[in-house]
Amino acid sequence: MLVVMQHGAAAHEVDRVVQTIVEMGYEARPMPGAQRTAIGLVGNDGRVDSSRIEALPGVARVIHVTQPYKQVSREWRPENTVVTIAPGVSVGGESVLVIGGPCSVESERQIIDAAHIVKEAGGNALRGGAFKPRSSPYSFQGLGKPGLEFLARARAETGLPIVTEAMDPEGARIVAEYADCIQIGARNMQNYSLLKEVGRIGKPVLLKRGMAATINELLLSAEYILAEGNDSVILCERGVRSFDPAARNMFDLTAIPIVHRLSHLPIIADPSHGTGLRDKVIPMARAAVAAGADGVLVEMHPEPDRALSDGAQSLYPDQFTQLVQELRAVAAAIGRDIPAPAGNGVAARG
Ligand code: PEP
Ligand code: MN
Repeated sequence: MLVVMQHGAAAHEVDRVVQTIVEMGYEARPMPGAQRTAIGLVGNDGRVDSSRIEALPGVARVIHVTQPYKQVSREWRPENTVVTIAPGVSVGGESVLVIGGPCSVESERQIIDAAHIVKEAGGNALRGGAFKPRSSPYSFQGLGKPGLEFLARARAETGLPIVTEAMDPEGARIVAEYADCIQIGARNMQNYSLLKEVGRIGKPVLLKRGMAATINELLLSAEYILAEGNDSVILCERGVRSFDPAARNMFDLTAIPIVHRLSHLPIIADPSHGTGLRDKVIPMARAAVAAGADGVLVEMHPEPDRALSDGAQSLYPDQFTQLVQELRAVAAAIGRDIPAPAGNGVAARG
C-alpha cells in the first residue's frame, strides 16, 4: 500500500502517518519526492484496512498495490530506477549499457585480454564468472577466488567495472568484495537465501530470469532483494526453455516491454544464453535494444574455440566490435545512446 501525501503536507503530518503505520504493526518507508511525499507500507502480504490512514490530515490518497510484488512495481515508484554500478556507469537511464566478456574467467591473461577487447570495442563493463553454476558436476566449475582477483586486475588495467556471479549466500560476501555488480544466475533466481543476502549486502545486483520462470516470478524474486532495502536491481532476460530444440532457449523479447510496464527496474537482455548460437547473438542483441532493453550482456572470448564454457555462443573479438557499432545505430534510432567507456587514466595495454 502506498500513501500519497498532499502537495505541501507538513512534516508532522507525514510523521503522523508513519507513526500510524507502525502502530498498525507494519513498516513505513517515507519517499520524499520533488512534488509530494509518498509513504510505502511494507510487511503485509494481503490487503490492509486503510480507513485509519485515509482519514489522517495531509493524506491525498491511498493506493492499494494490486500485484503480488510491491516495491518493484510501477505503482510503487512511477519513475524509472537508474542503477549505478560504478561512477559514470548506469543502467536504466537514457543510455544503453554493453556488458561483454567471457562466460568464465579462465586465466589472468584471458580475462585481461578480454577486458581490453571489450574496452577498445566501446563496451561499458566486463563480465566473467569465477564461480560457475554448471549443469554437470564434471564441467569446469570456475577458478573461484583467484578468478575474482584476475577480474580485479582487469578492472585496474582498463577501468571497466566488473559483473560476476555469486552462487550461494557465503560466496556472495566474497564476490561483493570484488564485484561492482553481483550476478544471480538463472539457476539461482529462486534461491531465496541468496536473494536475501545480496539484498542485505546492498551492492548492485543483476538478476537473471530463471529458465522456466514467469515474469511474475522474476519480479517476485526481485522483491526479495528490495525487501531487504536494496533497490539497485537490474533484471535480465536470458531466454526460457521451450519445446523447440532449434536454439538453446527461446529468447523472450516480449519480456522487455512487459517488465517496463510493470516495474520501474531496468531490464537488460542476454542474447548469448538466449540463443546459444554465435551467429544469432548480434541480430537478437539488435532486436533487444530496439525493443527497449536498457543494456545487453554478451559473451565474447578472445579465443572462443578454446573456451572452457559456452564457446559456441561466444562472439569473436571482431564480432564484438561489430556488435557495439550496430547497437549504437539501433540505440540512436530510438533516441538513446551507448556511452563511451568510463576512462580511468589506466596503464596502456602492455
Ligand atoms: C552466465 O551468465 O554465464 C550464465 C551461467 O547464465 P545463466 O545463469 O543465464 O544460465
Ligand atoms: Mn555462459
